[in-house]
Amino acid sequence: MNEAPVRTNLLGMTRPELEAFVAGFGAKPYRARQLLKWIYRRGEGDFARMTDLAKDFRAALAERAEVSVPEIVSARIASDGTRKWLLRMPGAAGNDQVIETVFIPEPGRGTLCISSQIGCALDCSFCATGAQGFNRNLTAAEIIGQVWLANRELGYDPDGGRIVTNVVLMGMGEPLANYRNVLPAMQLMLDDLGYDLSRRRVTLSTSGLVPQIYRLAEDANVALAVSLHAPNDRLRDELVPINRKHPIAELLAACWHYLERQNGRNVTFEYTMLDGVNDAPAQARELARLLRGHDAKVNLIPFNTFPGTKYRRSPADAIRQFRDLLVQGGVMATVRKTRGDDIDAACGQLRGQVLDRTLVRLGRKLVSLSVQA
Ligand code: SAH
Ligand code: SF4
Repeated sequence: MNEAPVRTNLLGMTRPELEAFVAGFGAKPYRARQLLKWIYRRGEGDFARMTDLAKDFRAALAERAEVSVPEIVSARIASDGTRKWLLRMPGAAGNDQVIETVFIPEPGRGTLCISSQIGCALDCSFCATGAQGFNRNLTAAEIIGQVWLANRELGYDPDGGRIVTNVVLMGMGEPLANYRNVLPAMQLMLDDLGYDLSRRRVTLSTSGLVPQIYRLAEDANVALAVSLHAPNDRLRDELVPINRKHPIAELLAACWHYLERQNGRNVTFEYTMLDGVNDAPAQARELARLLRGHDAKVNLIPFNTFPGTKYRRSPADAIRQFRDLLVQGGVMATVRKTRGDDIDAACGQLRGQVLDRTLVRLGRKLVSLSVQA
């Protein structure tokens, strides 16, 4: 009985990895560059259609390699044009899982919000993804595959204007807890033969894994967003449990180091507005004192509700007042527009279908986290 050949998935391989792969069967490095262009710039996954590659090279590729992308389970469009795709991923427990990718069109730009893990182990108290638990990390192919699929679905145009102009790692999961796979995916977004996005158009959002922020400062140059949500450790310990391991002062020191090392413009601090929890004027003043004098911008996110949550969204005037107090306190602040909430595609509403494999919940054993990176 013949065994089915195991083909290497080229999706998710960075330029040097692809060069090494093609060198393995005698091809020159420029072949890898041609492949990158076909796969990412032209969105082509079929070697037979890569017409400027030599026939024997295409045959060798077809034998050993493939471009394998996640399967779309369903696609929905919200009344404001936001799109959400559910993608099937083989789960670690042998059961298929579903993750979510969201595209947000705006005049002059299109932002793709991608997931980095199936679920999330960090258990922030106001997040639907956290409430689902954790299953596994996505591979580099599954992460960049979300960009590949979105470009295909949105009508990728290799010569004209881009449709996906920005990518944010703000979907399901904590990207820095999956550093190993997130880094190559981001490198492909920035590579001029990949998606060729400028460093300011790729944003990684983290809840504050401090050691990995230092590591990122050496390895990548992307925009950094940090989920702060509270102006002091007492409250942040409750909302973002990783704070018990990496408190605010440590986190901010890592952020300023990142900016300096990367020559970045500013760090965006995300702050989800929870009614009666973190939205009082005194808390706005405390937050301003924390960030004033630094290259920081606060993005206030109206809380998006989900079944089973105990939180409520702050009223619009409380959010406006909070923003005004930050600005008066010398800190740049904006309010994020809620998009796609009629299809549960707004921040923190992404749930997919996740089988929780986390044996120890994070608040009790933070140490288990470091092994995922
Ligand atoms: N894990 C990463 C990125 C994903 S979450 C992180 O935490 O930064 C993207 C942003 O949405 C984060 O700032 C997160 O705190 C916020 N968020 C989570 N749940 C939310 C909710 N229900 N409503 C509004 N924002 C939420
Ligand atoms: Fe995970 Fe981010 Fe949700 Fe926290 S807010 S549980 S880190 S996805």
